Amino acid sequence: MAVRVVKVVRPALRVVGPHSSWAVLVGLWVTTVHLVRNLAGFARGRQDFTVHFPEQRFMQPPAMRGMPVLVRMENGKERCVACGLCEWACPTTCITIYPAETADEVERYPEVFDIDMSRCMFCGLCEEACPEEAIVMSRQVEISSYSRRGSLWHKVDLLVPEDRLKTRIDFLRGEYEFPPAGPQVPANDRGK
Ligand code: SF4
Ligand code: SF4
Repeated sequence: MAVRVVKVVRPALRVVGPHSSWAVLVGLWVTTVHLVRNLAGFARGRQDFTVHFPEQRFMQPPAMRGMPVLVRMENGKERCVACGLCEWACPTTCITIYPAETADEVERYPEVFDIDMSRCMFCGLCEEACPEEAIVMSRQVEISSYSRRGSLWHKVDLLVPEDRLKTRIDFLRGEYEFPPAGPQVPANDRGK
């Protein structure tokens, strides 16, 4: 087998130019200017937009796609009719549904509805595929766990009352009323 030798040409370090210690000094200078400018702004009373998590929470906009959750209706039952479209649409095959029959008007419900959050990429295709608005992308992003087993969310974990998802559902329907543009407020006051 022929061995192909590839010679990597590395530019020599110069005094000036993009590959030089001068470029490092310029970068440090830019950082220092921004640091001093920000400190001067805070001294003049400019507000701090840093969110001190977890004491403060940033209220995400309705277009934000957090983890997918299941809508729980007022009667306490899931809105999902176990049609399987979200399972089919999911590009990472992280949804598992076992349908079952019920005497209710909807006739079918998911006996098992699992989402493997370690594989979910928050694409929202399940939400788009659902004909019942039964699975929506929430604002929940704190879903880390210490084990793979902990990343497997079951139906009981996924069900969220409908009124808590109203903002997202209104947004999907094009009925969400965006607040009027105005002066910015500190992050911990946003969305209240
Ligand atoms: S958001 Fe995307 S990856 Fe996650 S469950 Fe839905 S379709 Fe699958
Ligand atoms: S597409 Fe909607 S109704 Fe169908 S199984 Fe998924 S969540 Fe349930």
